[in-house]
Amino acid sequence: ATNDRTDLLNALPLRDDLRGKTPYGAPQLDVAVTLNTNENTHPVPDDVQAAIVQEVSRAAAGLNRYPDREFTVLREELAQYLGHGLTAENIWAANGSNEILQQLMQAFGGPGRSVLSFVPTYSMYPILSAGTNTAFIPGQRARDFTLPPESAAEQVREHQPSIVILCSPNNPTGTALDDEVVDAVYQASEASNSIVVVDEAYAEFSRNPAATAIRLLDGRPRLVVSRTMSKAFALAGARIGYFAAAPQIADAVRLVRLPYHLSAVSQATALAALRHRTALLADVESIKMQRDRIVDDLKRMGLGPSESDSNFVFFGGAFDARALWEYLLERGVLIRDVGIDGHLRVTAGTEEETTAFLEGVESYLESAA
Ligand code: PMP
Repeated sequence: ATNDRTDLLNALPLRDDLRGKTPYGAPQLDVAVTLNTNENTHPVPDDVQAAIVQEVSRAAAGLNRYPDREFTVLREELAQYLGHGLTAENIWAANGSNEILQQLMQAFGGPGRSVLSFVPTYSMYPILSAGTNTAFIPGQRARDFTLPPESAAEQVREHQPSIVILCSPNNPTGTALDDEVVDAVYQASEASNSIVVVDEAYAEFSRNPAATAIRLLDGRPRLVVSRTMSKAFALAGARIGYFAAAPQIADAVRLVRLPYHLSAVSQATALAALRHRTALLADVESIKMQRDRIVDDLKRMGLGPSESDSNFVFFGGAFDARALWEYLLERGVLIRDVGIDGHLRVTAGTEEETTAFLEGVESYLESAA
């Protein structure tokens, strides 16, 4: 049946450059412990749910009208949340940071242009590049997956991309980049006049959250820092992403965004969530504790976890990744096979979920020994 569908798809006038491509498809399975897409596994607290319902209910009364196309109040509140002297002029928002990245590629990428990122990194970058007909250049990291500033800068000078994406903390490896890398890449991209995007989807979980690239925006008009409410804010279902940058970057994406792309319901949800951020972000510390516990326990089991600034842990070792992944799934624990030999990635969940994962790994290692 799948082959029939492929034939039927190929009979359509699909763009040649999309033929044979695979859509994003992290499994959405109904299991007890879901630790495969780096969500915040803590439910939205009751009082925040109530505040969201109230704000959405107010918006519902006006759903006959298009929403504020400029989502001005939301931009003001996001600027206030980020601090660093940012104002609404510096902020743009969209349906998840995936849409943020797509809009940046629509504005600054396109046919004849390229995006450089450093693999392994977030799997959507090549998919968004394909969708916008922008060439994706898989830049190289060191063997231990770190990104030395000189090497990153050298690759930027070599490829002269229209856009560079630095993922910090990096998905799937988990570690944040130092300022030196961002600065070296920015300087190296002067000649090609590239947009440098720092994707900080996981910034709130960093061991040093104050070290955000937002500090570097002043005087760097080609720098964009992308954020999301999907992770630390426990709001993946609401689809709210945003960026901070010079105001003219927002002007550029205004040329490609759909009119009224951020629905009144999304704006209301995001506003209520931001106003209750203390309650929503309260679980960040416990998630970081579970993350560090995963790193410590996997080391104790003789595996090789990377240090993590995010809400997930990337680990390798002398195990069969596919077999361990399947073993855990049989026990109701879904983690991520990121397609890198001998490595897997797991999201830090609640204490109970994390225990279920760690016990599963321990018992797999015993059974395989
Ligand atoms: N960037 C990175 C590095 C991510 O891991 C993710 C989510 N997996 C995103 C962006 C997109 O998240 P969202 O669209 O939910 O904001």
